[in-house]
Formats: sequence, structure tokens, C-alpha cells
Amino acid sequence: MSTNTPSEDHKPAVEPLYEASKRIFAKKAQGQFRNFKWVVLWVTLGIYFGLPWLRWDRGEFAPDQGILLDLAGRRFYFFPIEIWPQEFYYVAGLLLMAGFGLFLITSAVGRAWCGYTCPQTVWVDLFIAVERFFQGDRNARMKLDKAPMSGNKFMRLAATHATWILMSFLTGLGWIMYFGNAPSVLVKFFTGELPFVAYGTVLVLTLTTYGFGGLMREQVCIYMCPWPRIQAAMLDEDSLVVTYNDWRGEPRTRGAKKAAAAGLPVGDCVDCDACVAVCPMGIDIREGQQLGCITCALCIDACDQVMDKVGKERGLIAYATLSEYQSNMDMATNNGRTGIQPQNVRDPDGKFKDRIRHFNWKVIFRPRSLLYMGAWSAVGLGMLVVLLNRDRLDLNVVHDRNPQYVMESDGSVRNGYTIRILNMEPQPRTIRLSVEGLPSAAMKINGIAPTEGQSYDIPVKPDEATALKVFVTLPKGQANWASEEFHFIAEDMTIGERSVYKAAFNGPGVKK
Ligand code: SF4
Ligand code: SF4
Repeated sequence: MSTNTPSEDHKPAVEPLYEASKRIFAKKAQGQFRNFKWVVLWVTLGIYFGLPWLRWDRGEFAPDQGILLDLAGRRFYFFPIEIWPQEFYYVAGLLLMAGFGLFLITSAVGRAWCGYTCPQTVWVDLFIAVERFFQGDRNARMKLDKAPMSGNKFMRLAATHATWILMSFLTGLGWIMYFGNAPSVLVKFFTGELPFVAYGTVLVLTLTTYGFGGLMREQVCIYMCPWPRIQAAMLDEDSLVVTYNDWRGEPRTRGAKKAAAAGLPVGDCVDCDACVAVCPMGIDIREGQQLGCITCALCIDACDQVMDKVGKERGLIAYATLSEYQSNMDMATNNGRTGIQPQNVRDPDGKFKDRIRHFNWKVIFRPRSLLYMGAWSAVGLGMLVVLLNRDRLDLNVVHDRNPQYVMESDGSVRNGYTIRILNMEPQPRTIRLSVEGLPSAAMKINGIAPTEGQSYDIPVKPDEATALKVFVTLPKGQANWASEEFHFIAEDMTIGERSVYKAAFNGPGVKK
């Protein structure tokens, strides 16, 4: 008889807050998705490291780096596009597009971003390849992990970590190339001529890349990244996710031939665990959809190879939508009235009536995806229209505050202004400055002679604001008001580009 009290008998087990991290020794996968992942990996790495070295001729007055974040000059250069700080809304637009793009991809093909292009995935993939190079594939790595420290083990571990640190350092170095002329940044980095912040950035990125890609790996995806949680809201029953088709796999059986000969029900899964062995997240996809699954599809490759070996159809693990999976499951179980009977899902020729292995465009072209596509295109088109029509000449006028006006000895009234002409083109220009709306006004700019009438031709430097002190004078008896509106006009006479600023002329009259 138990001596425990009832409350002790039914005491719930205390769940630990954090699961202890388990080392994952992912096996090398082979197949179409693995090949595709290699292509994506080299393309994304090529883009990251290569972009700052691409040149773009902007003339002699602007940098020739294709993509440049010029923090000192407060400019962002993207090939022919130059973004000024006041045009930051373009960056907001790009972020919006990235957001809608991510929603679109998730709603159509699940976590494809996580599985193929996320930097964490790409770098972890690379780091695992390095680990495999120095320590061998899964079994060899597991054996090495269990073995006591020896010269051989030390050398293999040291080589792995040294290569990881070198790759992390190159990642950090690659990042600062975006913030200056890449060739000179590279030289100056090693000659100690860069500012402290550049070395600090490289150090932080080296440490985080090594930590995230080499040491923490799947922990980053599971515990640190918010995207797995957010994406759950994006998926629906028509989103593609990596799925174990248990309607044909169960009951999973080792020694299937013997079991079948004994008349036992046998599913297609031979319980070889190949799908688990290749998973970089340490997941058994046969347990169903999981937060940790990044849909890298390596388990599909592994299982397809097994199916080839045992002479069964591929696709036991496949990209599938929940609705396709459910309809197959309903068929296999006679709408839930029986256990799984895979023969229900087979055609007379013995093949599965399985639609999931044929790509269905409806998965992408459905209302939710079209909505995201529409939003993405609308933001993109809007940005393009604004970009093509944006001003490259700007005028800013500040009226003198004290005094508001000056009464000259001859009775004329003078107002003073500080004018900034902003030339956003990467070449010098001559801008004609004039006033409009005060017919008898005379404009005067210290140190510059008028060009014709009351206009002044102002040479402005490329990519710079030119500040001028300007005086506008009205003859005696003309300024009988407290304030009158008029316009300053800045115009590039060669291309006709204009910028107009509404200003006020103050006089000694009474307010209207
Ligand atoms: S379960 Fe499959 S798709 Fe998901 S992370 Fe593992 S290998 Fe990739
Ligand atoms: S690889 Fe395929 S056959 Fe092997 S355990 Fe995984 S699902 Fe079953």
C-alpha cells in the first residue's frame, strides 16, 4: 500500500523552463533540395561579399561604389540612385517591401526564407560543412565527441574553431566594406587607419557570427528569432510545409518484408531515421509540424533516397499543404472510420493518388498570396513613380527674425533672408535665383553680380547645399503692408528643373 498522500501521488511533474541543449550532428544530405541549398548558399554569400566591390560611374564628384552607405556624407548610394537623409521614406518603403515579400513567401511556400536564405541558415550550413571537413560526417563526429581529449581530437577541434573564427572575421570585414570605398577600407583596416568604430563593428560581428553560427546554431532559430512565432499567423491550410505523410508511412516498420509476410500491416516508413540524421535542427518530422522546422527539406532528400533503395515511391516526406494532407488522410482512414489503410489512397496501378509531388500553381496564386503580392507591387510601383519624379533641386528660405525689416534713409524697405540651394545631383550646376510676385523688388546678393534683371546665376557644388545671404528691397511707398507673400525661384536653366519657395516680405504697414 502506498504511504504517499494523495496530493503527493498526483503532484504534477515540474517542467523545466529551458530544455537542455543537445548537440546535433547533422549527416550530409544529398539530393535536389541539398543541391538547391548549395546554389542559394553560394549566391547569397557571393552577393554579401561581392556587392561592395561593384563599381558604378557617377562622375568625378561622387563615389563610384555601386552600393555605399556614406555615413559621414549622410548619403545612401544604390547604383544610379542616391538617397539623401530627407528621402529616408525610400528606406521605409524598402522595409515595407521586404515585409510583404516575406509574408508572400511564407504564405506560399512556408518558411522558405528560414530554410534557404536566412543569414543564420546560410552561415550555419557553411559552418557545418567546415565541421564535416575537419571532423568527418555524423558518425565520425559523434565518435570524436565521445572520445577523450587527444592530440588528434584537439587538432581537429582547433582547426574547426579557427576556421569558424576566420570566417566570422571575414563576415565582419565584409560588412564594413559597405560603409566606405571597399578597396581603400580593406587596406586601411590592416594599416590601422580606420576609426575605432570600424574595428569595434568587425569585432562584434566576428563574435556574433561565431557564436550564432558555430556554437548556438538551432538555438538561435528556436529561442531568439521571433519569425517562427510570427509566421504561424501567415500559414493556412493551403501553405506548403514539409510534411511526413503518415497516411502512407504508418505503421512504420523495420523489417517490413518479414512483417508483411506475417500478415501485419506495414507502412512505407522503414523507420531508418535517415530523415532525423540529416536534420540540422535535430527534429523528427514524423512527429508532425514543429516550431523548430525551418523547412530546409533535407529530410525530403534523405527519405527519397531511402524510398529509391526500398523500391517505393518518393514523397513519403514532401512539401504538402495541410488541405492536401488532410484529404489524403481522410481517404486513407475512410474519413476517420478506420485506421490508416494506405491501399485506399492508391490508384488501380498501385501508385498513390498523391497530388503533392506535382507542383500546383494554385498554391501561389490564391487570394491571400495575391493580396500580399498586390501590396508588395503597390509599394514597389509607388516608390518607382516617386523615384522617377523626385526633385534633385531644393530651396530653403529663412527670413531674418531680427529685424523683420529695415527702413533705409531713402524710404525704401529691405528684408533679409538666408537661402540654401540644395543641389542633389553629383555634378556642379548653375542655378538661377530670382523673385516672383513683387514686381518692383530689387534683389541683392553680397559678392555676386546680378545676371539679368533681378536674377542671379549661382554656381552650386555637386551634392551640396549652398548658403547665401539675400536682401530684397522695395522702393519708398511700395511696402505699405505688414506682410506680403512672394516667391523665390531657383531654376536650372539647362534642364528647366525648378524649385519654388513661398516667402514673406515684411513692411511697416498695418496687419490686414
Ligand atoms: S524536419 Fe526536415 S525540413 Fe524541417 S528542419 Fe529538419 S530536415 Fe529541415
Ligand atoms: S527517412 Fe523516410 S523511411 Fe526513413 S525514417 Fe524517415 S520517414 Fe521513415
